Amino acid sequence: MSRDTIAHVKLSHVILPLNNPISDAKVFTGRQKPMTEVNFLFCEIETTDGHSGVGFSYSKRAGGPAQFAHASEVADNLIGEDPNDIDRLRVKLLWAGASVGRSGVAVQAIAAIDVALWDLKAKRAGLPLSKLIGAHRDSIRTYNTSGGFLSSPLEEVIENALASKEKGIGGIKIKVGHPDHQVDYTRVKAVREALGDDFPLMVDANQQWDRPTANRMCEWLEEFNLVWIEEPLDAYDYEGHAELARRFITPIATGEMLASVAEHVKLIENHSCDFIQPDAPRVGGVSEFLKLTKLAEHAGLQLAPHFAMEIHSHLAATYSLEPWVEHFTWLDPLFNEHMEIKDGRMIVSDRPGLGVTLSDQLRAWTVNTFEVGKRP
Ligand SMILES: [Mg+2]
Repeated sequence: MSRDTIAHVKLSHVILPLNNPISDAKVFTGRQKPMTEVNFLFCEIETTDGHSGVGFSYSKRAGGPAQFAHASEVADNLIGEDPNDIDRLRVKLLWAGASVGRSGVAVQAIAAIDVALWDLKAKRAGLPLSKLIGAHRDSIRTYNTSGGFLSSPLEEVIENALASKEKGIGGIKIKVGHPDHQVDYTRVKAVREALGDDFPLMVDANQQWDRPTANRMCEWLEEFNLVWIEEPLDAYDYEGHAELARRFITPIATGEMLASVAEHVKLIENHSCDFIQPDAPRVGGVSEFLKLTKLAEHAGLQLAPHFAMEIHSHLAATYSLEPWVEHFTWLDPLFNEHMEIKDGRMIVSDRPGLGVTLSDQLRAWTVNTFEVGKRP
């Protein structure tokens, strides 16, 4: 019997436009421009036996073309390979591009392929990805994150928060990190009052405070019973985060900007946070995400993955401690299937694999494709 092997790989660079340009604290401090689009790298894999898988990676602002270019250079290494040996293939692709390193763009290019291989394996088993790995639950606490940007006036933020609560979302996160600290305080206070004392509320400073400011703001915000304060400091300030996590009752969350497992290991070793926020496409895919969440679990950290709920709902379901997942509807036009929310929780898809198929709109927003191998 001949073994099933990878026959064809298709990569697509897709640019998703956002309805409204959005700004967090990085824009207010002048470090970034408002975001108007998100770049995606999609990978579709087909095998000689006719099995298929789809995965994606993404980049906000710069980096999308680089992810696509790097994946296009290494993808031919997959042809003829056994799609079951996911981690061996990931390592093979890493070595193919060894001189550009094991973090950032290189691993993010490989992430789209890694996710596609996991999707394929789960589909072939007839299981949702969460079940292929082994799940602790079939729904995840979920919070809305797209209604509280600094670019939105306070009345709109409150309106969005109440509308999300009404729709059955389980928590609300708003941005802070405004250059005027009083503005932050006023906005958090107003949203807390509108939501009520017990409704889960988080804030996100997007790395824009220095250590003295973070200290002051964490102290000011203690009274609001926040689920967490996210990225109070620079993403690589492991010691500064550890100091805040030790000093304040409000939990500290960080990790979304880190671009490899090795960088997350430093967060864990330095006791830098209470909630760790890895992003599977950013750290190299499902395989790498699972490696680092095993370590986080062992260290007793709580989990709140960043962005990409279509992937993270499955992965969060496999974490032993009750996690949170971010609800972002931005990606909805890319897929024919959408995430379901009920009673404050996101329902993990019970369809095989990730449970998504690519939409015609995604094809229309595709700006570049690369194919290697022969369709079965
Ligand atoms: Mg964040």
